[in-house]
Order: sequence, then C-alpha cells, then structure tokens
Amino acid sequence: MPESPQDPIATARNCLARLRSAFDSATLALAHRCSTNGRLSGKKLDAEQVACFELAWAAADLLAAETGIASLREASSDRDRRLALLFAADAGNAVLARLDALGLEFSLPRTALRELRDDPAWEALCLSAAGSAALDAAGQAVAASDGEVGQIALDESHAMAQESFRRFSAEVVAPQAEAIHRENLTVPESLLQALREMGVFGLSVPQQYGGSAPDGHEDALLMVLVTEALSEGSLAAAGSLITRPEILTRALLAGGTQEQQAHWLPRLAAGDPLCAIAITEPDYGSDVAALALRATRVPGGWSLNGAKTWCTFAGKADLLMVVARTDPDRSLGHKGLSVLLVEKPSFEGHDFVYREPQGGTLSGRAIPTIGYRGMHSFDLAFEDFFVPDANVLGGEAGLGQGFYTTMAGMVGGRMQTAARACGVMRAALRAAIRYTHDRKVFGQALVEFPLTRAKLARMGARLATCRQLAGAVAALVDRGEGRMEASLVKLLACRSAEMVTREALQLHGGMGYAEESAVSRYFVDARVLSIFEGAEETLALKVVARSLLERALGAAA
Ligand SMILES: Cc1cc2nc3c(=O)[nH]c(=O)nc-3n(C[C@H](O)[C@H](O)[C@H](O)COP(=O)(O)OP(=O)(O)OC[C@H]3O[C@@H](n4cnc5c(N)ncnc54)[C@H](O)[C@@H]3O)c2cc1C
Repeated sequence: MPESPQDPIATARNCLARLRSAFDSATLALAHRCSTNGRLSGKKLDAEQVACFELAWAAADLLAAETGIASLREASSDRDRRLALLFAADAGNAVLARLDALGLEFSLPRTALRELRDDPAWEALCLSAAGSAALDAAGQAVAASDGEVGQIALDESHAMAQESFRRFSAEVVAPQAEAIHRENLTVPESLLQALREMGVFGLSVPQQYGGSAPDGHEDALLMVLVTEALSEGSLAAAGSLITRPEILTRALLAGGTQEQQAHWLPRLAAGDPLCAIAITEPDYGSDVAALALRATRVPGGWSLNGAKTWCTFAGKADLLMVVARTDPDRSLGHKGLSVLLVEKPSFEGHDFVYREPQGGTLSGRAIPTIGYRGMHSFDLAFEDFFVPDANVLGGEAGLGQGFYTTMAGMVGGRMQTAARACGVMRAALRAAIRYTHDRKVFGQALVEFPLTRAKLARMGARLATCRQLAGAVAALVDRGEGRMEASLVKLLACRSAEMVTREALQLHGGMGYAEESAVSRYFVDARVLSIFEGAEETLALKVVARSLLERALGAAA
C-alpha cells in the first residue's frame, strides 16, 4: 500500500501509535492505584472496577483498530480499506473519550490526548474516514458486497475449508435453522451425522488422535473459519456444536493422562460421544473458584451430589465434563476442584432421568430460553451418582487441578465464541443488505437513503474488524500465546454482534420483529454471546484489565 504524508493509512497508524502511548500511561497509572508494594491488590481492583472496565474496552477498541489497519495489504479491496479506516476513526474517538474520562478522574496529564484530538491530521482522518461522504461511499461498497468484508488472507487449504463449510451452512444448515428455533427442536441426527462426516468435532484434536489439528501445534484459524461459516447458518444448531469438544479436548490435552487422551480424543474427534460442559451452578457462575457440586470418595470412584445449571446439550450428549469439588475443605477455593467425566446415555427432548445400575440418578430439565435453541441448556441434579476413578481427569494427580484444566479449555472456547459472533454478524449483515435493496419506502429502495448506507457501513466496519482481529488472535493462540487477547476479541466481537444484529433488525422495520424473519433469530441469538464463555464484565475485569495492569507493572519494574 503506497504511503504519502497525506495517506490516511499512514495518518491512522501514526495517530493510533499516539493513542497507544496515552493508553500505556493510563494503564500504568491505574496499575499503581490498584497495587500495593508492586503487586495487584484484589480489594483495590474491586474498588476501581469502573475504571478497569473502561480500560478493558479501550484496549479492545485500540487493538482492533490497530489490527484492522495493519492487516491492509496491496491486495486489500477499496471496501476493506474504507472499513478499516472507518473503524479506526470511530474506535479512536471512543478510546480518546474513555482515556480522557480516566485522566479527569485520576488527575492524569491529558495534554497528549487534547493535542491528538485537536490535531488537524486526526480531524482530517475522521472526516475522510467517518464523515457523511465517507460513510456513504463505505455504505455503497458494503451494500454491493453481499457481506464479504474484512477478508482474511488465507492459504489454499484454509480457503477451501472456508468455502466448503460456507456452502454446507447455506445449503444444509440454514434451511433447517428456522424450524429448529421456532419449534424449539433438538438438532436433528441427520445434521449431526453430516457434521461428523465433515470432521467438525475433531478440529482441535491432534492428528495423532484422529482429529485434524496438526500434531505439536494448533490450527486455531481453521477452527475460527469453520465456526464462523457454520454460525452463519445457525448459531445454536451448528456453529456452537464445536465449542464443547473444543473445550473438553483442550482440557484433556492440558490435564488428561495418556490413557485418557488415547481413549477419549479419537472418540471426541469422531463426534461419538457428543459432549457437554457442566461448570455453572445455580449459586455460582462467574465465580468458578467457589463451585460447590460435591464429589465424595467411595470405593472405586466418586459419588456426585448437587446441582449444575445451563449445561448446554446435556440431554443429547453421552459425555459430560463436570467440574466438582473433590476436596471438602471449602477454604481451598479453586484448588479443591477437579474435572470428572460423566458417562450417560443420549436422550432426545427437553427432560431426562438416568438411573445408574449402581443406584445413582442424574436428571435434567431444559431451561426455556428466548434464543440459542437446538441444543437446549439444562438444569442438572446429581444424586449419589457414581463416577469411576478412571474418569477423574488426570487421575490422582488431577485432583485439585480442575480449575486450571477448565481454564485451559476456555481460551479456545473464547476464541471460538468470537468466531461464532462473526458468523451471526455476517448472517445479519447479509440479510440487511438484501432487505434494504428489496424494500421500498417513500418511493425508493431503502438502500438509496444515506442513513441506511451509513448504518451498513458501520455494521460492515465492525464485522470486518472483528474478523481481522479474530484471525490475528488465532495466530497468537497457535503460538501458545494470546490468553488475554482471546478474551479481548471475545468481548469485542460479542458486543459487536449485539450492535450489528440490532441494526439489521431495525432496518427490517416491523418485519424485523416478526418471528418469520431470520433477523429476529439473529438478534436473540446474539444476545447470549456476551453472557456465556465468561460474562462480559468478568472477562473485562478479571482477565483483560488484570492482565493489562500486570503487564504494565512488570514492564515498569
Ligand atoms: C444459553 C446459555 C448457555 C450456557 N451454556 C453453558 C454450558 O454449556 N456450560 C456451563 O457451565 N455454563 C453455561 N452457561 C452459563 C454461563 O456460563 C453463565 O451464565 C455465566 O458464566 C454467568 O454466570 P451466572 O449466570 O451465574 O451470572 P453471575 O455470575 O451471577 O453474574 C451476574 C452478572 O454479574 C456480573 N458479575 C459477575 N461477577 C462480577 C463482579 N465481580 N463484578 C461486577 N460484576 C460481576 C456478570 O458479568 C453478570 O452480568 C450458559 C448460559 C446461557 C445463558
């Protein structure tokens, strides 16, 4: 991409670098406020939650804007160039406002922020990238795109995978998605079998265990592409099916014995058994360290007593990854938790009761939800339910390790959830593009109005940037890094999915609110993304802000 002193891309890079420097100063100042003797203090972090939350969002916007600009290449389309600049201008202004408010509150110098805000180069960039004329041009480009924005540079095999899963999603998943949602059906076996045959359940399982992930390193990008493609057809009936084996596979690789890995991984890769993840309890969700489901030692294994909730796919699944308290000493907190693998028969429908030969029971009841239908999320009750020693993840050495192995699984789950959000956004954007071409208001197509095109431009900019960020974070995850960034892209993409689906629904007018329009499903489906796989607030405070402050203290030391 050629650069000249007036080149908006060069200007954007320069201005974002100045914002980064102001962001780093604010981060260090907040880190000092939240620490005692150079170490972060839980109490002080809690007292500064509002500032930490703002900082996390500023971090997300800033990294996304930087990534969007950095990803522009000679071959990037004019549309992607416009969208990256639009996001950089919008996000840059949002970051400026957040840092300014933090500076005001904490009496930090704000001269650099003011200089940037009033810099003619920044003003010119904002006008040329996000002024009315720029929005109109970007909106026209999006309207002509059928939703293909923020293209990630792919090698041949990734491009082929993307193409074939997109085709499958459009031809097989999407036609079934409405009925599954509106009639609250269970994902049909025909769809599951087709996904098994496409190798979907083995995407994060290493090849040596029968999956498609390269041995020795990961292929998070492939997982992102496949998840996005399937989620475009249906979040609940396709895209989210991969999340469960993804989490369990990573937990097995991180903490399973060799026998457990050899036994379970090939089976998970084949999608037989199907699995579900049982972490959340009625009294504890975000506070994973406090989980209470009791596992008591009995001859040959463990007896489970207590409740789990929101366990998605627990009916259909034949294997549950259950986080339980194996040490009765509650003061141990997260160190008293272990992962138990619970085997059960697969059940159709919304309720089930399983009586073990040993006499224990596991019963489940699907919680009615506004969206995300197809797998059903269950309340579970365990009564004297027997789990053999062989099914404790990691064996004796795995006792007390459950929190860590679960968290190892969650990094992939969060990355994946960002990809799910991108798939839903793409579906919503494409529906909005189609509808605004077809719908006539005041004698002309909706898309002919500047406000419509401005909306399409901003929707496109969000999707394009989230896709670029997801691709960049996938590369980090492949190198064994990116724990914080996986949470950050999850934060941004999930909130963006709410915004994009909201606008898509709005552009449909009354029809958007009709169940028969797919956008109404995208809207209610998108709403769950910021709640699960780490609620937005928990991720922002406990993962993103905390990591940023720790890094700042480390760098300053
Ligand atoms: C459709 C659906 C499917 C799900 N599937 C699964 C699944 O398969 N397996 C599973 O284990 N779980 C699943 N969950 C549960 C999900 O992970 C939890 O809902 C989530 O972790 C939040 O926990 P909670 O609901 O108990 O909320 P709470 O922890 O009670 O949080 C309530 C609110 O308080 C905020 N909050 C929490 N802590 C703080 C704090 N320290 N400071 C400020 N604010 C805070 C939260 O962000 C949230 O906004 C699912 C949930 C839904 C809705």
